[in-house]
Amino acid sequence: MSPPPAPPAPPAYRGRLAPSPTGYLHLGHARTFWTAQERARATGGTLLLRNEDLDRARCRPEFAAAMIEDLRWFGFAWQEGPDCGGPHAPYDQSARLDLYRAAFDRLRAAGLVYPCTCSRRDIAESAGAPHESGVGGGDEPLYSGRCRPERLDAAEQNRRAAWPRAGHSWRFRVPDGRRLQFIDTALGPQSAVAGETFGDFVVWRREDLPSYQLAVVVDDAAMGITEVVRGADLLVSTFRQLLLLEALGCPAPAYHHCPLLLDAAGQRLAKRHASLSLRALRAAGRTPAELRLAWA
Ligand code: GLU
Repeated sequence: MSPPPAPPAPPAYRGRLAPSPTGYLHLGHARTFWTAQERARATGGTLLLRNEDLDRARCRPEFAAAMIEDLRWFGFAWQEGPDCGGPHAPYDQSARLDLYRAAFDRLRAAGLVYPCTCSRRDIAESAGAPHESGVGGGDEPLYSGRCRPERLDAAEQNRRAAWPRAGHSWRFRVPDGRRLQFIDTALGPQSAVAGETFGDFVVWRREDLPSYQLAVVVDDAAMGITEVVRGADLLVSTFRQLLLLEALGCPAPAYHHCPLLLDAAGQRLAKRHASLSLRALRAAGRTPAELRLAWA
C-alpha cells in the first residue's frame, strides 16, 4: 500500500514593506518594518518593497529615492522591489493602474460599488459623533449612505448607471450588520460590524485613481503576500480589505498589526516629526543598532 499523500505544503512566507513616499521615513516606520523583516527572515521567506505612490498631490520622486536609501542604511534588505525588479514587477503602484481598473470593473459589474457625489463637508456634517466602540474606533466618519442607489429616485439611478468611472468617487457598499472577524498574529482575535464600526468606503477616487484600500488589496493578492505586517492605525482598514478580498475572490493573508511608536507627548509619530526621521537621526550620528536597542 502506498503511504497517504502528504498534505500540501503551506505557501512560503511572503511579506512586504509598503511605504508611501509622502515624506521622509521615521523611526516608527523603521520599527514596524523591522518586525516585518524579522517575521520574513524567521521563516526563510521573501520580503518585497512596494512603493505606494498613488497620491499624486503628496508623493514626490525624491522621497521615493530617499526611502530606498534610508531603508538600506537602516539595515533592510528585500528580494523584490522597484530598484531590483522581481516576478511581480512593477513594484510602483503608479505603474499598476491597469490592474486596479480591472478590479474596479469587476466590483462595478457585480453591483458592489456606487458613485458618490458627496463632498467632504457633506460627509462631515451628516456623520454622527465619531464612533468609539469596536476595534480602535472608527477611523473616518461613518458615511450616511446618501448616495446609495435605493436612496435615489429611479431617474437619478438610471442617469448614474451610465456614468463613466471618472468624475466622482465610488463607494463599496458594506453588508450592514455583518460581523467580521480575524485573528491578528500580534493582537489576537479582532472583530467589527460592517455599517457600525465603519461604513461604505471609497474604492475609486474622483481624480480617477484607486483608493488606498483597493490598491493595497489588489497588490497584496497579486503579489502573493501571505502576511501583512503594518501599524495598528490600519486595523479598521483590515476589515474593509477583507470585504474587498472576498468580493474579488482572493484569499486573505494573515495580518500582524504593530503598536505605534508615540512621541514624548503621547502623539503617534508622523512625518511631521522631522527630528525623528531616519535622515535626521543618521545626520546626528545615530547608528541603526543603537536605535534598535532603544525600542527593544
Ligand atoms: N502605504 C501605506 C502607508 O504608508 C501602508 C499600507 C499598508 O501597509 O497596508 O501608510
